[in-house]
Amino acid sequence: MATFEENLSKANRFLARFVSDGVLNQIGGEAVPAQDGATFESISPVDLKPLAKVARSTAPDVDLAAEAAKAAFPAWAAMPGEARKKLLHRIADAIESRAEEIALVECMDTGQALRFMSKAALRGAENFRFFADRAPASRDGQSLRTPGQVNMTTRVPIGPVGVITPWNTPFMLSTWKIAPALAAGCTVVHKPAEFSPLTARLLVEIAEEAGLPKGVWNLVNGFGEDAGKALTEHPDIKAIGFVGESRTGTQIMKQGADTLKRVHFELGGKNPVIVFADADLERAADAAVFMIYSLNGERCTSSSRLLVEESIYERFTAMVAERASRIKVGHPLDPATVVGPLIHPVHRKKVTDYLALGQAEGATLAVGDAGFEGPDGGCYVRPALFTGVDNRMRIAQEEIFGPVLVAIPFRNEAEAAALANDVRYGLTGYLWTSDVTRAFRFTDQLEAGMIWVNSENIRHLPTPFGGVKSSGIGRDGGDWSFEFYMETKNIAFATSAHKIPKLDGHGG
Ligand code: NAD
Repeated sequence: MATFEENLSKANRFLARFVSDGVLNQIGGEAVPAQDGATFESISPVDLKPLAKVARSTAPDVDLAAEAAKAAFPAWAAMPGEARKKLLHRIADAIESRAEEIALVECMDTGQALRFMSKAALRGAENFRFFADRAPASRDGQSLRTPGQVNMTTRVPIGPVGVITPWNTPFMLSTWKIAPALAAGCTVVHKPAEFSPLTARLLVEIAEEAGLPKGVWNLVNGFGEDAGKALTEHPDIKAIGFVGESRTGTQIMKQGADTLKRVHFELGGKNPVIVFADADLERAADAAVFMIYSLNGERCTSSSRLLVEESIYERFTAMVAERASRIKVGHPLDPATVVGPLIHPVHRKKVTDYLALGQAEGATLAVGDAGFEGPDGGCYVRPALFTGVDNRMRIAQEEIFGPVLVAIPFRNEAEAAALANDVRYGLTGYLWTSDVTRAFRFTDQLEAGMIWVNSENIRHLPTPFGGVKSSGIGRDGGDWSFEFYMETKNIAFATSAHKIPKLDGHGG
């Protein structure tokens, strides 16, 4: 395994091009600045030093990108599925061959620890391979017969689509949204998050170097309120695949109303992990700790509310506290680091404000340090655990999106279900019990799009991904992604010379 120093020197080599050239848009196969030349500065959460000047696009840039995606659409949509499949596999190969560069750049741009990001490229490539393999059958439909008629359903790509992604694990998430769009035959305009724009630039370059035709995938950088908004309002963009905050989802729905935009939203979460006394507590503690503190807690599926049966509350929270206090916080490129700096000073302040708020609300900060300052002025926060939490507190209701866990006791199953559901979100739930009947009963009541029983979050790509309530609209994964990026069309064929009603007075 490479040392911290080796990782840092390689990362600096990979970052040098961004320092000198900035981060440009990619429109119609060309790397271009914003038309008015505007840029904004992207900083590293490690030391707040500038990483790159990024194109600050506005509506005219989005117009050009949408035009390019519209022009490229007919040929891309008409390409046989087998050909698209081959091309998408070539993109996956190219992603894998640049795995180290992607991982190191992602770490410096987001603050995520290398131990997790080293797999980002492989997971991204896997997303491409998964949807590539399904591209040839994506148009298949059903044959529905009735006497005198056979109906044939087929699916067609919806058109050019917009993909808007957040700053947490941006590389993986971009591939998760863009790969199925391309496999379905859609062309894409991608607007990555302003806090972490670097790997989106690498990704589109990789795709074009692998042979993706110009204009099939366009990249427009900029802020949500101008570039993002213009994309959601654009009449030539037929759908928006969005991952981000629930509040932004609301805005996008309003912005897209005039053009009747189809939307798919993967939004926030305040996900419960429910631990009954009959559970394997060692495994449950490991999983709860993993699901809240990995990826800096900046994870939509994080298990951020720990609901524990009263009889084991003291013991179990002590197990979690002991594990949390041993987690190493440090530079993302240090192989020993588990928790790196949070994405940005603005977000760090949000998280540390919650640490102060929780104490003001009367909860006990059992682990953590609201005043912790990491090295080099980076956005570091220590893993935190609040005990003595009431589910009505704001720290139990609001998405903190950092390494902060709140632990709430429950008396019985009915109370556990009520507490688990008493929140506006419904993305995931994690249940720990050795009683299989209870597991059936409980998961049936739990308001969440995805539930894991006696497990941390392990993704299986054919399964549906998405949330209920304020956590999202729609599903992706498996065929669900194609349902979003494609339109279903029904064609009815007469199979006999049936009698057609005559309205001209001559019989019938
Ligand atoms: P955000 O909503 O602030 O930003 C996400 C993206 O939307 C960015 O690219 C931003 O520029 C853009 N945007 C902002 N305002 C816009 C507007 N008015 N019109 C169009 N685009 C706009 O989210 P974030 O802070 O970058 O990411 C964190 C959030 O994402 C958390 O709430 C997290 O739970 C959520 N998330 C959800 C999932 C999921 O699968 N459910 C996955 C990852 C992250």
